[in-house]
Amino acid sequence: MRATVLHPTRNLSNDNDRFEIDPAEQFRLMRDARERGAEIIGCYHSHPNGRAEPSTRDREGAGEEEFLWLIASLSDADEPVVSRAFAYRALAFVGIPLLSEASLDRLAARTV
Ligand SMILES: [Zn+2]
Repeated sequence: MRATVLHPTRNLSNDNDRFEIDPAEQFRLMRDARERGAEIIGCYHSHPNGRAEPSTRDREGAGEEEFLWLIASLSDADEPVVSRAFAYRALAFVGIPLLSEASLDRLAARTV
């Protein structure tokens, strides 16, 4: 799968270990995607004080099979931002490769 558009949304949660998207905004984004023949394939968020892996809260909130989760860790100002991707599959998060557009283009060139 390839993400072609990102839609930043505001976090409604007051807890720093949780994110909550406005349901009306989420519904609008889903409807807009459907009208363009696209679909929402995942979500992204950061863990300001944690690692780039699903938290307990993420595990509690996950439920859609094959939904992709991109998580960035911002925990250490001396380290670059670490981003990792996961798919929610069979009731668990599975790490998946995160490839840049350049990497995808190189892979496509090899398979032609
Ligand atoms: Zn999280």
